[in-house]
Amino acid sequence: MNFADLGLSDELLKAVDESGYTEPTPIQAQAIPPVLMMKDIIGIAQTGTGKTASFVLPMIDILSHGRARARMPRSLILEPTRELAAQVAENFEKYGKYTNLSMALLIGGVSMGDQVKALEKGVDVLIATPGRLMDLFERGRILLNGCELLVIDEADRMLDMGFIPDIEHICTKLPTTRQTMLFSATMPPPIKKLSDRFLSNPKYIEVARPATANKNIEQHIAKLPANRKHDMLKYLLRTEKVETGIIFCNRKVTVRDLNKKLKRDGYKSGEIHGDIDQAARQAELEAFKTGEINLLVASDVAARGLDIKGVSHVFNYDAPWHPDDYVHRIGRTGRAGASGKAYTFVTKADEEALENIEKLIGYKIDVLGAGRKKSDGKKSGGKKYDDKPDEKPAGKSEEKPKGKPERKHREEAAKPAKTDRSEKPKVAKRDNKNTDSDGGEDGWNGPVPGFLGAKFKD
Ligand code: ADP
Ligand code: MG
Repeated sequence: MNFADLGLSDELLKAVDESGYTEPTPIQAQAIPPVLMMKDIIGIAQTGTGKTASFVLPMIDILSHGRARARMPRSLILEPTRELAAQVAENFEKYGKYTNLSMALLIGGVSMGDQVKALEKGVDVLIATPGRLMDLFERGRILLNGCELLVIDEADRMLDMGFIPDIEHICTKLPTTRQTMLFSATMPPPIKKLSDRFLSNPKYIEVARPATANKNIEQHIAKLPANRKHDMLKYLLRTEKVETGIIFCNRKVTVRDLNKKLKRDGYKSGEIHGDIDQAARQAELEAFKTGEINLLVASDVAARGLDIKGVSHVFNYDAPWHPDDYVHRIGRTGRAGASGKAYTFVTKADEEALENIEKLIGYKIDVLGAGRKKSDGKKSGGKKYDDKPDEKPAGKSEEKPKGKPERKHREEAAKPAKTDRSEKPKVAKRDNKNTDSDGGEDGWNGPVPGFLGAKFKD
């Protein structure tokens, strides 16, 4: 299969070719043809599988005919974070270089005036975070009734961040005849509900279930008391050949503390979490990408979906509360055929979280220092999953999560059709909707796609 078989235009194929892609990824191969046929689609594929190009490429061809009208964007792409929105914009720039599409990026942290100016002129593609879009919509600066194409990207992350009500609201403002595409790594019940309501007869495409991919990641858990985590991390950093590593913590405060300690110990580390302003976050990412720092301490919200390649190690300093996050976190390593290692620290309190993770991925993770060999995964505590085939590794969201005992999960588990994702502490914050999940209204000093500079100057 190659890109030329998918029905894309010659100009687009040229741009794709120049970008160095030789073959479409599975999600691209399956999604592009129906999108070109103007079908609604649901695309489920794990992070890093190329979902962006699977909607950006056909959209460029679909939108290459027709003209934009003032304040009425012709298409809308919703992204959960500013970074992801900027990445999508960069994709449009790269593949759209032989097409004359105008775009605007509507994200917190960029001056509202410039964004409004771009909109006034009319744009073919509007890439936005829900908070900022709602803001402008409510001020009457934008009309969505000319929007024939809608992409809801990273839907499960939108859910985590409490954006679903905003998205529902936005959906009702678009013409009902539009084409809608929804992309997500997982399909928890609220996302299913959203798609039932706002997509019409969608083609459902699911590739490489999150829990079954990434065979080339060597996974370990370290069982330890909470107060040994720091020493264990330092031990691993010393004994492992950690070229680049991401260290995930569940709370921002842990991210901050840990980064401080690592720096004090002489490590080249940085931090990325929701409280860090946009400019600093982008700078930190850049430093990590260029190798100026080789350790990045991160929270889930800040790190999800970011395209960071070639990470040799992932450390879960805190075991993730939700098993999905485990898959996403370790997915930062072992990308594109490279091998990687993932270490997860598990305290007594995390036992249940670990159980849920192992249930999702369908096997037991090797315990460090337990004298177990990889091949004997069936023994030593493997009681639960030994001989029953794993029912639905990726569909775990339908199962009742046990969650952490001290949280509300137990009561919630009794209620139908309610996912525990919304209860996940710290992540599902609602109060930050107008600043897009995190961060304040600080200036955007990150990479501004070229078209932005060009269009915003008058
Ligand atoms: P997702 O949205 O599924 O998490 P992205 O769209 O961000 O994934 O793509 C992940 C990475 O894969 C990016 O670095 C992108 O450039 C790369 N990529 C996408 N499509 C291809 C392809 N056909 N061939 C090679 N690399 C690709
Ligand atoms: Mg994506």
